[in-house]
Amino acid sequence: MVDLCETLESTLRKLIKENGLKAGIAFPTGCSLNCVAAHWTPNTGDKTVLQYDDVMKLDFGTHVDGYIIDSAFTVAFNPTFNPLLEASKEATNTGIKEAGIDVRLCDVGAAIQEVMESYEVEINGKVFQVKSVRNLHGHNIRPYKVHAGITVPSVKCDSQIKMEEGEFYAIETFGSTGKGAVREDLECSHYMKNFDVGYVNLRWAREKQLLTTINKNFSTLAFCRRYLDYIGETKYHMALKNLCDVGILKALPPLSDAEGSYVSQFEHTILLRPTCKEVISRGDDY
Ligand code: FE
Ligand code: FE
Repeated sequence: MVDLCETLESTLRKLIKENGLKAGIAFPTGCSLNCVAAHWTPNTGDKTVLQYDDVMKLDFGTHVDGYIIDSAFTVAFNPTFNPLLEASKEATNTGIKEAGIDVRLCDVGAAIQEVMESYEVEINGKVFQVKSVRNLHGHNIRPYKVHAGITVPSVKCDSQIKMEEGEFYAIETFGSTGKGAVREDLECSHYMKNFDVGYVNLRWAREKQLLTTINKNFSTLAFCRRYLDYIGETKYHMALKNLCDVGILKALPPLSDAEGSYVSQFEHTILLRPTCKEVISRGDDY
């Protein structure tokens, strides 16, 4: 998994012509496996090897001047999982179709859930109705702020908020054979500065130095421990923890559904232009 991420990331760095905070990788490469739905990437030294029966969500992104593209697809080698992948792919495409200027978010969520939960998947002789994971959702995106405060529900709810012209939205859905809800799980790899954090008086030189490095390399973009390793930081665990404890950074641990379950995900970033709904991340592959 480390090799997979490093290959993907070095390709991103090349294609986007990485240039400090002006252009580069927007956040850690998510490659969450099976019941882990999001926010997992290997830390350095992790020995996890991708298996034939794994369901992997590849969630990755780039930015130029802080304008982030957030996109994801799911990989499974065993065709057993095809209906599970199809469910979230179609649910995300439904969300994209429903989205638009003046559209109420609750209507997007209801449409997503209806499509997602029309699928079933048979795994080892047991049939599961696919559930739309209710506590993971799409989100609006602002410069250098991947989750900018508005959530796009993936189930029926009563959000009366309307989408507005000029906004960027990540439309993402997660299909699950588990409870349809995630909780924090496993070792943390993802961190992000709190966007609105004011001045905090730090006591230790090491914390100050690490924060300076984070400001310079990531600003308010999310990063992972491997990205700190990549820029040459070492022995940062204590300082990283302290920066979280004082509220400058937020730790974003992996999010998992029930053990033994499988979760799929698809995600695209759209821009609501006045005369067109542009799917910025669409390619001919997904
Ligand atoms: Fe994403
Ligand atoms: Fe996202």
